[in-house]
Amino acid sequence: MSRLVVVSNRVPAPGKGKAQAGGLAVALQAALAAKGGLWMGWSGASSGARDPGAMTFREDGPITYALTDLSRKDIDEYYAGFANSTLWPLCHYRLDITDYARKDMAGYFRVNRFFARQLAPNLLLDDLIWIHDYHLIPLAAELRQMGVKNRIGFFLHIPFPPPDVFFALPVHATILAGLSAYDIVGFQTRYDADNFCSCLEREGIGRRVSDDWIKTSSGHFRVGVFPIGIDTAGFERAAQDAEHNPAVRKIARSLVDRDVVIGVDRLDYSKGIPQRFQAFDRFLRDNPAHKGRATLLQVTPKSRSDVPHYLEMQREVAELAGRVNGELATLDWTPIRYVNSSIGHSILAGLYRIARVGLVTPMRDGMNLVAKEYVAAQRPVDPGVLVLSRFAGAAREMDGAILVNPYDTEAVSQAIAQALTLPLEARRERHAAMLDHLRRHDIGAWCGAFLEALREGGQPG
Ligand code: UDP
Repeated sequence: MSRLVVVSNRVPAPGKGKAQAGGLAVALQAALAAKGGLWMGWSGASSGARDPGAMTFREDGPITYALTDLSRKDIDEYYAGFANSTLWPLCHYRLDITDYARKDMAGYFRVNRFFARQLAPNLLLDDLIWIHDYHLIPLAAELRQMGVKNRIGFFLHIPFPPPDVFFALPVHATILAGLSAYDIVGFQTRYDADNFCSCLEREGIGRRVSDDWIKTSSGHFRVGVFPIGIDTAGFERAAQDAEHNPAVRKIARSLVDRDVVIGVDRLDYSKGIPQRFQAFDRFLRDNPAHKGRATLLQVTPKSRSDVPHYLEMQREVAELAGRVNGELATLDWTPIRYVNSSIGHSILAGLYRIARVGLVTPMRDGMNLVAKEYVAAQRPVDPGVLVLSRFAGAAREMDGAILVNPYDTEAVSQAIAQALTLPLEARRERHAAMLDHLRRHDIGAWCGAFLEALREGGQPG
């Protein structure tokens, strides 16, 4: 029985309870525990100017966590640099703010080689290896160079852009070749998989021989679509329990007689928060009957403050919230309640449940779990309405949502008005279809489907 080896940039702290770990971490821990396994990644710590040295191992039942520190230079170039200042904006279609520094590219490949050297001696012959996300694309190619023959799969949690965007990256061919070194590469949506295949074909690296198989000069590999899910049952339960949570009740009391519209996002330019504030402002001006009633509760933990563009955004968003509130607020009503702290799931589930509209309007998003969590947290007898950007991966599945183009301020404003006035029967119908989907395609099903595809392999053609 083969072990599972998971590699991701960050690793959840061993022994953390289910309540604190995210849905993905819990699902991967369950998969690792089933057959015993190893989870490797960066500890989050810096070794300063020194060489990070050997990995540290921590056992937690059947799971071994293998953690490595990184030097300050590695963190700057690999993590804050190439991963978060180059690949992240590029894959979210933001060529205008993508950083093309050669030293960061070199640092990214160097850290991936370092990860491979740390991992290889700890692998067993029949281990299944599952590598996660944009930080670690070249890892399989590095492992192959060291003679590793195991089956290796990769899942990209963020979008994959079309050739004319991706080719702006000077090292795009190396990244594409890196992805071609896997046995299977998984994407969130068919659009992402198609974009990747177009890049391979345009660059002459591979040719699509069927929906799911690519032929390269050295063999075949598989491309798959695996839209990530949430812990649906867990969220439904958390939202029910939250009705009795004193903290949630206190917030609910402070919003009594208000129509709550909720937004929950890391403070990231991909999430479209300024555009959302503008649309909410437009909605209030165009629909005076909702003035004094509708409140946008925007929960936005700060994120990646070590990347300069994020600091600018923090100021921009705070100023915009201040301006809207300054112009429209009354003595007893604040249009936008803007909160910068991170809220745990047991309270968040309760906030979703009291909100009549889930306003999820990223400019581009791999999936967007908040959209799914909002739906799972609703009361089926009287559910709220999801307003969702057509540019979130979740829009491919959440067909009971009101889909919007987040660039179109007036359309988003109208969608908010429509959502707040949708009759009960229509709300129930839309919600039931989405909840059913989320129950059938939860995070456990996602994990199982990817691992089965990685294990089975299959035949090209
Ligand atoms: N989240 C949270 N507390 C917060 C804000 C967000 O726990 O204050 C969680 C949210 O519930 C979701 C995740 O962070 O599970 C965000 O995932 P999503 O796919 O929406 O966006 P990402 O941040 O991964 O780009």
